[in-house]
Amino acid sequence: MLGSPSLTSRAAPLRMRPRVVVAADPRLPRAVPDGTEAVVVGGGIAGVSAAVVLAERGVAVTLLEAAPTLGGRLGAWPHTLPDGTDQVVEHGFHAFFRHYYTWRDVLRRIDPELGFLRPVGGYPVLSRTWAPEDLTGLPAAPPLNLLALFARSPSLGLRDLLGSDTGLASELLAYDRERTTALFDDMPAAEFLAGLGMSDRAQAMLFEAFARSFFAQPGALSAGELVAMFHYYFLGNPEGIGFDAPDTDYLTCIWAPFAAYLDKHGATVHTARPARAIVPAEGHRWRVETDDGPLTTRHLVLATEPGSLRDLFAASPDAAAAAPRLAAKAAQVAVAPPFAVTRMWLDRDVAPERPTFSAISREPTLDSVTVYSRLERPSAQWAEHTGGAVVELHSYACTAPDVDTATARMRAELAALWPETADAQVVHLQQRMEATAPTFPPGGAGSRPLPSGEARGIRVAGDYVETPFLTGLMERASASGVLAANDVLGEVGSGPEPIRAVPQRGLLAGLVRTRPPR
Ligand SMILES: Cc1cc2nc3c(=O)[nH]c(=O)nc-3n(C[C@H](O)[C@H](O)[C@H](O)COP(=O)(O)OP(=O)(O)OC[C@H]3O[C@@H](n4cnc5c(N)ncnc54)[C@H](O)[C@@H]3O)c2cc1C
Repeated sequence: MLGSPSLTSRAAPLRMRPRVVVAADPRLPRAVPDGTEAVVVGGGIAGVSAAVVLAERGVAVTLLEAAPTLGGRLGAWPHTLPDGTDQVVEHGFHAFFRHYYTWRDVLRRIDPELGFLRPVGGYPVLSRTWAPEDLTGLPAAPPLNLLALFARSPSLGLRDLLGSDTGLASELLAYDRERTTALFDDMPAAEFLAGLGMSDRAQAMLFEAFARSFFAQPGALSAGELVAMFHYYFLGNPEGIGFDAPDTDYLTCIWAPFAAYLDKHGATVHTARPARAIVPAEGHRWRVETDDGPLTTRHLVLATEPGSLRDLFAASPDAAAAAPRLAAKAAQVAVAPPFAVTRMWLDRDVAPERPTFSAISREPTLDSVTVYSRLERPSAQWAEHTGGAVVELHSYACTAPDVDTATARMRAELAALWPETADAQVVHLQQRMEATAPTFPPGGAGSRPLPSGEARGIRVAGDYVETPFLTGLMERASASGVLAANDVLGEVGSGPEPIRAVPQRGLLAGLVRTRPPR
């Protein structure tokens, strides 16, 4: 069950309320001076967030997207099933958390009530070994949320409370960017988790499944990032860990409306048009090379995924010479191991008690399962018509050598958890495996690009960018896009787009004095 609203944001004490991290400035004009233009490279959440803010202010925006459709890792495209049914297939299920204030504000441009988002019942973690754990519905404020987790969780017992290294555990309540980074950035998350001294079950059910959803094995994730994300998603989040998901496919409810919105605000969107290289040009401008000729701009926003930023600078030696700091950071950005997403149209339904979304712990390949036919209308209609089910399997740090093997392994692991799927026939299958996600390895702090200030006239946006306040995943993509847009607005004398964020420090920040074990 999702958190009762009375226990989450509305009842949150003042210290847990969202913070204004960028305030509107009523002294500055909203509109930009005539003739202001910008080129945005990349049409995922980051690029579209930047383009929306800029276009609304009167900037003549040109958005270049390499793929045939907008959306990047949240993208969706039409697909015809073998039985002739038209469906839209997505890059994969996404949880739209309630503390994604910036991304939700951007989405309100296309749906002011966010009517396409529906609560998804619960955030259960399943395993072969232990009883399910549900992470939703914790009280909003620490330490109550941590105590409630201990009291309620079948995985956390008195033994964990007594056996845990309370110094290290209190670090979870003491998030403070500077201190947390200084103490824990170099440490692998696996070492931090082992140092907590909790039972194997608590580690598996509460921490490992969470860590893997950042596209890394706990040994390859920085403990600093783990503590930051634990604060962001659990302990420092006024909304509890409740999330929503669209009730229809992402093309219908997100990307087609954004394309129309951008068009209405005078932006030009080119899909299937990759930026091949960037070149410094006369008059403090940049030239963007495309297969259809060059574009020159004063304001360039690079909103690609991390590997593409690296490739773009590798293909742009003159830009690298003119923007050495950004080029050096681009060369270093860390890309996560591949993830795999497999959507299956099955000839029969899964058992009625199966949750719509489940995280999976301690399976070698499978990390989450979503029953799409209980989530979104087009899949529900197909299932109603055929008596089948649409199920999507994710592997976030996939070790399988190829996508067929990944699918076979995820299916076998699912059958062990949900035996009714073992004999189900796969009527149709869509599968993909790619390495486009960022990762946050130990020792990586300070090496990631900032949204602005890295190179004259170039802003960087994406879910790997270092935002000056705490964000994660889709929210990091959107917030960095708005920050990039704000930097353009600031340069031409227009007021910034306001931004809200979760409280930036934990309850015990400034009070904990323990040193981590080394
Ligand atoms: C399977 C899966 C599940 C996920 N689940 C969640 C979730 O539940 N909750 C959550 O918050 N996040 C989730 N995420 C993460 C989320 O999808 C990303 O954080 C977010 O979409 C990143 O957006 P972005 O704009 O930074 O990058 P992208 O979406 O990668 O967009 C970058 C765009 O740039 C384009 N591009 C690249 N190079 C060029 C070029 N040279 N010229 C022009 N265009 C170019 C690409 O084609 C792409 O469209 C999930 C991701 C995956 C893969």
